[in-house]
Amino acid sequence: MKSFESYYTMNHKQLTFLILSIFCLLTISGRVYSADEVIKSYKKTDIELLDLKLTPLEKAWLKKNHKIRVAVKNGWMPIEYKLENDKHRGVSIDYLSEIGSLLQMDFTVVDYTENINQDQADIISAVNGNKIKNPNFNVLNQPFLSFPFAIYINKNAYQNKKINSLDNLSGLRVAVFKSGILAQKISQNYPNIKLVLVDIADEAFDELKSETVDAYVGNELVVDYHIATHRLTFVEKVSTTAFLSTISMAVSNTKPELASIMQKGMLSIGENNKELLDNWKISGKDYDWIIRIVLAGILIILLFLLLRFYRLKQSIKKQNVETQQQIWHQANFDDLTNLPNRHLLQNRLEQEVIKAVRSELSIGVLFIDLDDFKKVNDQSGHSSGDKLLIEAGNRISLCVRASDTTARFGGDEFVVIIPDLKDMIFLEKTCQKILSEIERPFLIGESLFYISASIGVSIFSTDCHNLDDLLSHADQALYEAKKLGRNRVQFFTESIKTNSLKRLSITSDMRIALMEKQFALYYQPIISLENPKILKAEALIRWIHPIKGMINPLDFITIAEESGLINELGDWVFKQALKDLIVCRERLGSEFQLSVNISPNQFNHPELLLKWIETMKALDIPGHCISFEITEGLLLAPSNEVLGVISALRKTGIEFSIDDFGTGYSGLAYLKKFDIDYVKIDKSFIQNLESDNYDAVLCESIISMAKKLGMKVIAEGVETEHQRKLLNHFSCDYGQGYLFSRPEPLEIFLCHATHEQTYL
Ligand code: C2E
Ligand code: CA
Ligand code: CA
Repeated sequence: MKSFESYYTMNHKQLTFLILSIFCLLTISGRVYSADEVIKSYKKTDIELLDLKLTPLEKAWLKKNHKIRVAVKNGWMPIEYKLENDKHRGVSIDYLSEIGSLLQMDFTVVDYTENINQDQADIISAVNGNKIKNPNFNVLNQPFLSFPFAIYINKNAYQNKKINSLDNLSGLRVAVFKSGILAQKISQNYPNIKLVLVDIADEAFDELKSETVDAYVGNELVVDYHIATHRLTFVEKVSTTAFLSTISMAVSNTKPELASIMQKGMLSIGENNKELLDNWKISGKDYDWIIRIVLAGILIILLFLLLRFYRLKQSIKKQNVETQQQIWHQANFDDLTNLPNRHLLQNRLEQEVIKAVRSELSIGVLFIDLDDFKKVNDQSGHSSGDKLLIEAGNRISLCVRASDTTARFGGDEFVVIIPDLKDMIFLEKTCQKILSEIERPFLIGESLFYISASIGVSIFSTDCHNLDDLLSHADQALYEAKKLGRNRVQFFTESIKTNSLKRLSITSDMRIALMEKQFALYYQPIISLENPKILKAEALIRWIHPIKGMINPLDFITIAEESGLINELGDWVFKQALKDLIVCRERLGSEFQLSVNISPNQFNHPELLLKWIETMKALDIPGHCISFEITEGLLLAPSNEVLGVISALRKTGIEFSIDDFGTGYSGLAYLKKFDIDYVKIDKSFIQNLESDNYDAVLCESIISMAKKLGMKVIAEGVETEHQRKLLNHFSCDYGQGYLFSRPEPLEIFLCHATHEQTYL
């Protein structure tokens, strides 16, 4: 914006500069030079000179007398006249100046008087005609000006009458100069013309204007000059006459050398020298025309600049408004979905709360999270994910009233504010509408995506009166909805709050527990059913709380997963397991294998998992001594990143087991694709083996199919001898459960394991 301002200032300055320069140019364009007391010579001349051919006598004379006095008349424009500063100008001065430069002569100006004599002046610069009354001076043969007399009329008075020669003036009143030869010549040749004698040109023009004379006949150069300088638009030159007016210089009759030098100078420059006369022949019409063009030009430039300036100002204004709008939009709307962002959501919520307090109506806040959205991103890339988010935002907006606010809270989370809420049924219906809208398949590119949403709801006035709580209560309710199995609505309740607070405190306690080493690993043996041997065990984490005592992993693993703490916790588990494995291998043989549970969330930080490869190498532990227990969910729609990590880990020899098999998708065939080594049948099936015939059949078929596909089977939660026998009968490879041993601290586990018979 600043640059616009400065651009504008620059133009403003430019404008002033331009106007000033135009006026300066106009002022200096007329050739103004002054004749000092000494007439200055032109420095250089473009006039083509004839060879002056001065005689030796003339040259000698010049050497002695290079200062010449010239008597110059006043008020005879443009022949010669005096300026206000007493300096002389005119055609005669220009001629003298030119001669001065040709012959290195200095002409000093003196004022002309009628009876001027040789003691006062050497030259009279301009004499009308070829005769002079003053006996002390002789007129030069070569005049410097020779112009015809021309006829001028008042064009307003003679529109119809044709006047283009002296003949047409017969019987008419004609103004002519009193002095000079013209009056005499006209009265001789055209006796019918009624002459009106005038002293100066101005007088003749006055007569013309008042129509007291019909025409004015005068020297064309002089009269044209008057018309031009006085802009006498009413005067029109109709024609020139055959009578000539010559103007010459006169030289003192005591100075014949000077006379011949001047004569030669005059000849050299020539009569009516075009270059010199051009300075004086400005036609009135031309002058007006130039001024008009210049003025029009200035006006056009001014208008153009004004227009530009105005446009610039408008565009700066427009840009300012646009930029401000853009900044405001960026600060308040989500780039991707164009929905209000967190910031605007907060503002709107504040306003609604103020209104709700006044109107005593409630506000519903819906916290919406897309279930399994990550899958879309992992499976089809971020651009598909982005498109789905945009579409989901649209669908949610269409489920609510225009006066409600649908905002993108971040990631795959949306928040809807429903103000002026009168009944809860409406709120419930809106939530259901959103759930079913999100359940509809999303067509992105050429693929269909099926997802669902979970919604947490809080209500201003019943749940809470505090603005900050509104969002966090909805968030807590959302958490509950997710926990209860997703694709559902959960309204906020006090017990949710209690749970949520509990979660918070557990998370912070876990951080402390990690630092204070309150975690321990317990080991549960995995027994080979056919040939009872302890060649495997599963590491299971325990939290030994200084006050609460032993805490079960089921009470904190999910919380650790949600808070992200699982990465640190998992890292600790793996490293501790490696340390313990070294001891186990010493005591139970180098083929001993430890199973470690890896949460799917840990695959979000593959770099941590890949680092373990180095750790194992450093401790000289071969890969096949480790088995990672993962869940089916991780493999349902694995991203390339997940597949990459699994394959890198497999390359080191690490084996993979599918934990809790049978509770999820339970597809054996597709597990084969991922080179899975073990399938762990979930304990819920094993526990029903005796009572439920269906589960027995299921177990048997899982075992036989897994084996056909080259995978080994581990039965979890084997508690009774009967279960063991059945499993044995089904040819299950391994068993794990209380029947053999509960998970125990390392030392106890090792103690039992070295005396195998304890389990059998
Ligand atoms: P899981 O991986 O399915 O582990 C087996 C669970 O079954 C263990 O519970 C074990 O004590 C229990 N169990 C073993 N035999 C029997 C039996 O005969 N009857 C019954 N009813 N239960 C039996 P635990 O140790 O409480 O672990 C619970 C879950 O916590 C584990 O289930 C596992 O998913 C998770 N977990 C434990 N340790 C870790 C760990 O280090 N990392 C991760 N990510 N998860 C862990
Ligand atoms: Ca496990
Ligand atoms: Ca399990």
